Amino acid sequence: MSDALLTLNAGSSSLKFRLFGLQDGLPVLGGGKITGIGGNPALRLAGETDDRPLSRDMDMPDAVAFMLEWLEGHAGCHISAAAHRIVHGGPNLDQCVQLDPSTLDVLKTLIPLAPLHQPHNLAAVDALAESHPGLAQFGCFDTAFHAHRERVATAFALPAHIRDKGVRRYGFHGLSYAWIARRLAIDHPELHGGRVVVAHLGNGASLCAMANGRSVDTTMGLTALDGLPMGTRCGALDPGAVLYMQRELGLSLDDVERLLYQDSGLKGLSGISNDVRDLLESSSPDAIFALDYFARKTAQQIAAMAVSLGGLDGLVFTGGIGENATPVRERILAALAWLPPFRTLVIPADEERAMALDVAPQLSGRSLRLDPDQSSCV
Ligand code: ADP
Repeated sequence: MSDALLTLNAGSSSLKFRLFGLQDGLPVLGGGKITGIGGNPALRLAGETDDRPLSRDMDMPDAVAFMLEWLEGHAGCHISAAAHRIVHGGPNLDQCVQLDPSTLDVLKTLIPLAPLHQPHNLAAVDALAESHPGLAQFGCFDTAFHAHRERVATAFALPAHIRDKGVRRYGFHGLSYAWIARRLAIDHPELHGGRVVVAHLGNGASLCAMANGRSVDTTMGLTALDGLPMGTRCGALDPGAVLYMQRELGLSLDDVERLLYQDSGLKGLSGISNDVRDLLESSSPDAIFALDYFARKTAQQIAAMAVSLGGLDGLVFTGGIGENATPVRERILAALAWLPPFRTLVIPADEERAMALDVAPQLSGRSLRLDPDQSSCV
């Protein structure tokens, strides 16, 4: 049986998985997504358009067990290692690493910095360790791509005694940006060597100012709340508003956390939906306002990223909105029409392959041709 690497991307109610053959080019052997974890679970296999409802209730360990059972019955390969997308790697983890108990302890301390993602990412690691104790598991961090920016990009204008406690900008979506950097190096080397802003616009959204394939600046901060308005997250906000909501409006800490992470952004602005497809279909003035607001703030922050680069040679759109929502891209570009000319590209996101490309060389005895030319999804 051939050897394979399993990638996992565990969210609050979903588990995305993909199997890569440990052969030249890392071919995709299969994959899919379990949705509705904790609610009405369903399996959607890669390449299929319909969900297959699953009859039993599932938490994350159940979902991991189901996925393994399914893969063992259908994939016809041997899983040699697993790679997990982990949103926060903290200040020291700047590349994919094999997870051991002490690394996992560090990652658990970062849960308050990514409450929407980190606990679910780690629950998948624990579940896999329990069911397959000998399997090598790797962590790939969304913060890692941004780890080597200058201090002017990572610091908040706060006193040293607070900055010294790790209150700083980390930045996220790094696996998506790492994939885009690889694609640019292969398909557009002239842009790879230039000044590029990458707009990862999905449910979560951020920008990365990239020069020579490295992150120079990014819009997210200590947590994944800062920067662009998102599906349900507020993006950049006057910190005084947080104080005011607690002191004068009587909202508790938990109320504010829920408000900022789950009820704001496009959902909060429109009062209709966090999904751009719904907003584009709606003729409600609130839906139009939410999309106009999203485009305006995104364009403003693209200009800010161009300042960090000293100019702009290319703008890359990726993520569900960036790849598919042409009217949103057009609104953003219209707001940037005053800039000197720059190239615009749309490149599909592929965080899974970014992980596989980082982990495969770390598996002992592997000497593979790793250029990411294979089709980016099944
Ligand atoms: P995640 O951040 O969860 O990985 P995605 O990158 O898949 O999210 O982006 C999901 C979002 O992309 C959806 O909520 C929706 O707003 C938007 N989207 C997806 N497909 C389309 C489409 N065909 N047209 C417009 N927007 C889309």
